[in-house]
Amino acid sequence: MTIGIAGLGAAGTYLVKRLHDAGFDVRAFDPKRPDHYIPCGYATNEFRASHFMKKIGIDFEDYILARAKNVIFTGSGMPEIPFPGRGLCTFDRNKLQRDIISDISTVNGHFSGNYDLAVDASGVSRSLLGSVRNDFLMYTKEYVSKESKHDDFYFRYFEEGRGYFWEFPLNGSYHIGAGSSDPEIISESLRGYSAIRITGRAIRLSPLFKDMVRENIMGVGESIGTVSPVTGEGILPSIESAEILFRCIDKYSDLEELQAKYQNSIRKRFDHYQKLYALLQNFRNGRRISLSNAVAVRSVSKAMREFGIDFSVWKIMRYIL
Ligand SMILES: Cc1cc2nc3c(=O)[nH]c(=O)nc-3n(C[C@H](O)[C@H](O)[C@H](O)COP(=O)(O)OP(=O)(O)OC[C@H]3O[C@@H](n4cnc5c(N)ncnc54)[C@H](O)[C@@H]3O)c2cc1C
Repeated sequence: MTIGIAGLGAAGTYLVKRLHDAGFDVRAFDPKRPDHYIPCGYATNEFRASHFMKKIGIDFEDYILARAKNVIFTGSGMPEIPFPGRGLCTFDRNKLQRDIISDISTVNGHFSGNYDLAVDASGVSRSLLGSVRNDFLMYTKEYVSKESKHDDFYFRYFEEGRGYFWEFPLNGSYHIGAGSSDPEIISESLRGYSAIRITGRAIRLSPLFKDMVRENIMGVGESIGTVSPVTGEGILPSIESAEILFRCIDKYSDLEELQAKYQNSIRKRFDHYQKLYALLQNFRNGRRISLSNAVAVRSVSKAMREFGIDFSVWKIMRYIL
């Protein structure tokens, strides 16, 4: 089977490395400049990241920049509430992605050619799968700054599910950013901070698990919405979706069977994202008290713990409901 991959971000670099090491005929494309600074907070769970990186011969420890001791949550009616970090850290994402593909020949350009299987790993742009009507994106803007108002990891949620502001330490500097459906809120929250670099892009918060496949194209990562709707965590979920796709490709040579198994596995693994997305939309529509919100409470805890935060939903229950 010949495989072409569009996009060498979190999911694409991991997938091409897995396939290359297993002996598949694979070609991967990405048009971004080699010195491109990835717009992202670079926060992840070091334990879960180590698990996946081990599979491709990477020692994740070498990339860690700062570890969370106390993670502060506030905003949307909540006072500042600290939760212990349980693996949350920042890491050198630019170096990691470069290193993953350092022994593979990739194409610095747009996707081209014909393949038995084409993989859309182009993130928010869905360059092969195309756009869909039920998509939901937020704007983001992020500063790399020498100063921050908090030394540890800090999240401040905006009212009515309109996104959040973050400060993440990077060992000598900070990522300070905001994601929101309202650009004004983003500008307001970043006022007074200085920047040595400014980045940003749209982020997809809608799970698109009904739109993962079209003809011989299959999506991984943010192109299919593997981003937690409450934390914006997308690095590991996207890598995990790539691992799921790799296993299916390795096991099933029939395209229809491969696509069916992959879609089932993704829906099962990321089922809690559907509940979190419903919670987000309920907040945005002023429906704070509803049965589906109560059902989503366990999914909030799950998403926070996956991100590396020892989160207790009871501490914030009254602010959710
Ligand atoms: C400001 C911001 C902060 C974030 N902070 C965090 C965080 O702290 N922790 C976390 O876990 N997640 C975070 N996320 C989310 C996370 O970065 C993404 O969800 C994750 O990178 C998705 O991985 P991916 O491989 O699907 O897409 P990406 O990593 O975005 O990779 C997509 C790649 O496709 C390429 N591409 C685009 N168009 C084409 C094309 N036509 N042909 C070929 N290639 C193409 C792009 O150049 C890019 O390299 C953040 C996102 C944003 C925007």
